[in-house]
Amino acid sequence: MNHKNVKLAAGLYFVATPIGTARDITLRGLDILANADVIAAEDTRSMRKLLDIHGISLGDRPLIAYHDHSGATVRQKLSSLIEGGKAVAYASEAGTPLIADPGYHLAKEIADSGHLVTSAPGPSAILAALTLAGLPTDRFLFEGFLPNSKSQRITQMQELAAIPATLVFYESPKRLIAMLQDAVAVFGADRPAAYCRELTKKFEDIQRGSLADLVERAKASTIKGEIVVLIDRPNKEAVNENDLDDELRAALATLSIRDASEAVARAFGVPKRKVYQRALELGKDKH
Ligand code: SAM
Repeated sequence: MNHKNVKLAAGLYFVATPIGTARDITLRGLDILANADVIAAEDTRSMRKLLDIHGISLGDRPLIAYHDHSGATVRQKLSSLIEGGKAVAYASEAGTPLIADPGYHLAKEIADSGHLVTSAPGPSAILAALTLAGLPTDRFLFEGFLPNSKSQRITQMQELAAIPATLVFYESPKRLIAMLQDAVAVFGADRPAAYCRELTKKFEDIQRGSLADLVERAKASTIKGEIVVLIDRPNKEAVNENDLDDELRAALATLSIRDASEAVARAFGVPKRKVYQRALELGKDKH
């Protein structure tokens, strides 16, 4: 038995669950699942399976399905259980609750009502992927899933192109190639990137390279399973100031200063403010 008997105070306990390998759960996570008065889960079947694997009996404790669209009714029920002194454990289907998963509205409501909200942290695909991608981890931006529509996806990528941080996306195997192709168009073929597939599972697969390399590799294999895509920040040193000026002059011939700066900033992956400043200087030089 990996868990021990502990008395839990009334409140909401988020428990991170495995993203693949079933033993990736903390001892405290197991203690909470074993001792909570009530268990709530995004997917009650996966929860039963997890309890089974770890030898935790549900007994006569309630197991309640909750996701954020279950709406106010289930939330209200969980809230009154906590109000009545119960410890409620909550887990999403895999990984950390609230991370591209339900739990936000529940956490907010219980915290707003002044009750204990705490967490047994553990696996999340974001952190496992950042650990393995070979890209800088000092600063990262988690974007979750991009929109399904190609044009919306491209617009969203354009908003991210100049951000000086490693970008982290969740992606589906069906969309991986299309997403990487769009990324080549927006971030450039040479931008370093990685995709991490089936993390912590038997066929864990990490591909690192330029975006163009990754498109080729994804096309050459059968893409299955769960995926995280990571894209490096723009390489400031690689921006040739003369090239940027040429591009900016050309853009200024047909566009307003604002639109020209925006287009060039996006193309070079540099901050808009900087290009706008340069556009003003180039404008002055002309007179
Ligand atoms: N809450 C989870 C977490 O903390 O990572 C994420 C839930 S989200 C609904 C599911 C997505 O996470 C998948 O589509 C995939 O992009 C990513 N993911 C989850 N498990 C993964 C794994 N084992 N390997 C790679 N990506 C994974």
